[in-house]
Amino acid sequence: MLSNYFNTADVEAVRQLISSAQHIVIITHMSPDGDAMGSSLGMRHYLRHIGKTEVTNIVPNSFPNFYDWMPDANQVFAYDSKQVEADIRLAQCDLLICTDFNEPKRIGALGEKIQFLSCPKILIDHHLHPSDFADVTLSYPGSPSASEIVFRLIYALETSVSSDKSIQSIFPVEAAECLYTGMMTDTGNFSFNSNHPEMYEIVAQLVSLGVDKDAIYNAVFNAYSADRMRLMGYCLYQKMRIFPDCHIALIYLSRKELYRFNFKSGDAEGIVNLPLQIRDIYYSVFMREDKIEPHEREKANGAKSKIKLSFRSQGDRPVNIFASEVFNGGGHANAAGGEYYGTLPDAVQQFLDNYHRYCKNA
Ligand code: 5GP
Ligand code: MN
Repeated sequence: MLSNYFNTADVEAVRQLISSAQHIVIITHMSPDGDAMGSSLGMRHYLRHIGKTEVTNIVPNSFPNFYDWMPDANQVFAYDSKQVEADIRLAQCDLLICTDFNEPKRIGALGEKIQFLSCPKILIDHHLHPSDFADVTLSYPGSPSASEIVFRLIYALETSVSSDKSIQSIFPVEAAECLYTGMMTDTGNFSFNSNHPEMYEIVAQLVSLGVDKDAIYNAVFNAYSADRMRLMGYCLYQKMRIFPDCHIALIYLSRKELYRFNFKSGDAEGIVNLPLQIRDIYYSVFMREDKIEPHEREKANGAKSKIKLSFRSQGDRPVNIFASEVFNGGGHANAAGGEYYGTLPDAVQQFLDNYHRYCKNA
């Protein structure tokens, strides 16, 4: 049913590593989104289904509460609050599986830690330019989500041994729910990066496994707190600046503003996408002032604040070059991110001085 995606040697290498492992740790990226949660928890449920009892999921920092409902979300260790427990699991681990990030920098303080782990590592990802830290790297930048790659990998692992296995025997429903969540969120509920016919074959399989896609949509997208909704309104009414010459919008928020709206992790998710709903706006940038974590002090070089940036664009207008050349970041052509160590007004000035060079005026 699905086209052959992987090279056979990679699938065999993954099979060997999983079959000889007993203590498996799964890690995904900083500020986990639906695909980070979905790909890593989806892999967890599969591993438990095939009899691996010692599987630990670690995230660098906490995830938004609209992912709390995901099966086993309450078993996930956030490294910034459960470091001691997580370090014990890392010390015991004989296989590390990394999902949805391309370089150790994207997992914060865990990045340093995993470089010194001697166990084998598997990377499953869809970002450009994966760094070479894993023993098996399954990098498919053309794939809309890491969760889809995890689905395909599990399917390949199981059907290459016995081609008549039923989909029900391969995927527990918990894995299906997690993988569906990642596929849904990384495509904006199938509204971008979504012209792949096979993706819908996978969705059909997941629904046949018992995934209630309407319920998942509600749990993830209709789960705003009143504060989060008001913050969004504030951004649109008072904070959005439009630069019509380059069809770009900018929204930025200071820590004081975030505090006013009782900001919680995940509350800013989606704000960057909103200006793209305006006719003739093809680029959008969102900046938010953030704390400097202890492991970032050296990089901060004395700066008192860090600005986290999100970039979005439509069609053939890459924003990842802007993100990487001006804001030390990167990402996909239409969805990228970056960071700036310094004040929010200085980051805004950096944007104003540079956006003309990166945004087509058509
Ligand atoms: P978001 O705006 O959702 O935080 O990030 C969108 C995409 O941009 C992510 O999937 C990731 O590929 C990329 N990205 C976000 N922040 C950074 C960053 O600081 N550095 C790099 N290289 N990529 C980032
Ligand atoms: Mn992803």
